[in-house]
Amino acid sequence: MLPMPVLESAARDLVSYGDSGMSVMEMSHRSPSFDAIIKAAEASFRKLMNIPDNYKVLFLQGGASTQFAAVPLNLMKTGKADYILSGQFSTKAFKEAQKYGDVVAAASSKDDNFSHVPKTTRESFRPDADYVHMCFNNTIYGTKFDYIPDTGDIPLVADMSSCIISEPVDVTKFGVIYAGAQKNMAPAGLTVVIIREDLIGNARPETPAMLDYKLMAEADSMYNTPPCWPIYIAGLVYDWILSIGGLEEMKKINEKKAKLLYDYLDNQDYYIAPVEKSSRSMMNVTFVTGVEELDKKFPKEAEKAGLMNLKGHRSVGGMRASIYNAMPYEGVEKLVEFMKEFAKNNPKG
Ligand SMILES: *Cc1c(COP(=O)(O)O)cnc(C)c1O
Repeated sequence: MLPMPVLESAARDLVSYGDSGMSVMEMSHRSPSFDAIIKAAEASFRKLMNIPDNYKVLFLQGGASTQFAAVPLNLMKTGKADYILSGQFSTKAFKEAQKYGDVVAAASSKDDNFSHVPKTTRESFRPDADYVHMCFNNTIYGTKFDYIPDTGDIPLVADMSSCIISEPVDVTKFGVIYAGAQKNMAPAGLTVVIIREDLIGNARPETPAMLDYKLMAEADSMYNTPPCWPIYIAGLVYDWILSIGGLEEMKKINEKKAKLLYDYLDNQDYYIAPVEKSSRSMMNVTFVTGVEELDKKFPKEAEKAGLMNLKGHRSVGGMRASIYNAMPYEGVEKLVEFMKEFAKNNPKG
């Protein structure tokens, strides 16, 4: 979802942005109008996430999946990297990185069907690894790290596609943060990378230009045509969060929404919430009925009641409620009401 005030602003600007006489979708990315848009979006993002001056912000394309390759290509100085496997996306990132060097799984919760995040200590990682990679919020399984791994001096790289700007994050704890924008920031087509400056400039010679952080940083994300429309919408989303009080406030709202749903799940016995409590995601809440037929029926019936996209990922089944920033509290209330009704109308034999 995108916040309603953002959609309304975008609708107003759709035909003509300000007095420019054209839509953002029609502008040259080299025009003064768009230059102002991308600079303002970056400034708002920096303010929102409290990004220090020694970090670059890159607005790229290719989705988080492209970063699975860009990270090893840019960060592997000696060719060694350690990955924490906490779900499907971190496993994909791990497999992609294995094409480029000596890549090992430092920790994994696969044996437990990724129902919790792996615990790590500094000793979990090879001291000479070029970086450690993690996925902070595991979209498909509904888990989130309840701690930031201690990697000592080894740069920590985090995929934050499904939790970015949902709550404050201490950026200084990370070497690189990346996120596909379409979960919580903007329409599909934009990928945001936050990278500490000293990690830029080590790309392997065969790195495609489009994946080279140095080229992208030097060109201020304008090496080629950037995704202008999603950048413009992302700027509106950042400003919307700043206007309601920033990430501290956003976190409070998100906590309240997630608590409503988890409190219900914990106080009934029809649905099962498979995730270990300490690893629960605030953005993606997964649950099952335990009966295949009913798991199939639930999302269909929910859709009829106006509750969309509740089917779990095809790889895990069951249900998943994605309650990103723009989902209002009332939306979660409606879901809980529906869950109660469904349980009453569909007894388990
Ligand atoms: C959705 C998602 C991805 C994949 O993102 P694309 O932008 O589609 O490549 C990667 N990681 C996480 C955590 C995701 O939620």
